[in-house]
Parts: sequence; structure tokens; C-alpha cells
Amino acid sequence: MDKLKCAFCKPKHCSQGITDESLLPSFCPMKDVKGLIQEVTKKYSKEDIQHFYINSALTEKEAYDEKAAREEEKVVPVRPRIREIAEFANKMKFKKLGMAFCSGLPDEASRASSILEKHGLEVCSIICSCGAIDKTKMGVPPEYKIRDPKKFEAACNPILQAELLNKAGTNINVLIGLCVGHDMLFTMNSEAPVTTLIVKDRLTGHNPVISLYSRYYRDIV
Ligand code: SF4
Repeated sequence: MDKLKCAFCKPKHCSQGITDESLLPSFCPMKDVKGLIQEVTKKYSKEDIQHFYINSALTEKEAYDEKAAREEEKVVPVRPRIREIAEFANKMKFKKLGMAFCSGLPDEASRASSILEKHGLEVCSIICSCGAIDKTKMGVPPEYKIRDPKKFEAACNPILQAELLNKAGTNINVLIGLCVGHDMLFTMNSEAPVTTLIVKDRLTGHNPVISLYSRYYRDIV
């Protein structure tokens, strides 16, 4: 199989249900993996996966105006992601949500917690600097500190965040602005499934898609 390059496929035939090989790009993986497609499709029939998947689909559907979609074939969004997280959690009968947040986004964490609680969910929130450990104690060379290398600089502690939420028995965990890399360590150590509410992007006000479109980002991406 060639390299996976769907991002550069113009027709994106798969999203129209077109599988005619003569129409697919040379690099289309659908040509070579028919067995795998069938094998993977079967995985969705496993009871727990099916329950998760069907509620994901319903959450997706409800994010659009039904009348506009059915009668006019228009996709009109009607709710933001935080509402979708709350709706999905309630559909899944998840009661306890974990929130792993960055110390740089404390206001966002408290706003998000209040909104999720308003939807009847218990929220356990944990800050990245929990543990109050200096970065050098984690093996970070002093010169890698952001400010004065001689002064205390709190280490982000995504593994501790994950462990504490594991102990709390959260059903799903929500990320609020964890750094690149720390977010992955959190995900690797979280027992509960993880979703992201806010992805950290310091320069864009946590809106990374801007850097794909604005010409003023062209020379810094
Ligand atoms: S799966 Fe095939 S048709 Fe779909 S986006 Fe990828 S290359 Fe294009």
C-alpha cells in the first residue's frame, strides 16, 4: 500500500460512498484493504463499542438543526463543543467527568466546570502544576526553564493529573489547554477515554485553525 495521503485527495469519493476503483486516486487505501475494512466494521458491533459509537453519532446529529438538514440539506450548527461533551456524557450515563487543565487557563477551567455541572455532571478538576515540583526534579535541565533558571518553576505533571483522575474513577476526562507532549503523556496514562475541549495554542488564543488561513502566520508555521 502506498503512503496514506487522504489529506491531499481532491474528490474524497469515500465521503460520497463511491468505491469504484477506476475513480479512486492511485494512493487511495480503499483499493488494498477491503479485508481490513470488513474486519474493522465488525468491531463496531461489540456491545460497548456500539453503545459508544451510536451515542457519538446521535451527539453529532443533534449538533445540527434537524429541519434544515432534512428539508433543505443544509448543515446549520446549533450547539458548541462543550454542550456536545455534556450531552454525550449524559447519553452515556456518565456521571463523573475529569478535567485536566493548564495553570495558564484557570478561568476557562472554572467556567467549563460550572457549565458541565449545570448539565448535572460531577466534575473533578486537576491543575497541571499539581505536586508543586520544580522542573529540574523531573530531569529538565535548568536552562530549559522559561524564566530565571535559578528560580522555582512548577513542572507540568500530566501523569499525576491522570493518576488522580484514575483514582477518582472518572468516566471520561476532558483536556483544557495542556501543552503539546504533556497532553500525550496524560492520554497515555488516563484510564478513562479522553476528549479535548480547549487545545493550547498560545499565539492564536487557543484557535490553531487561524494559523492555517491567515497570511500573517505564513512565515512562522
Ligand atoms: S480514502 Fe480514498 S477517496 Fe477517501 S479521501 Fe482517502 S484517497 Fe480519497
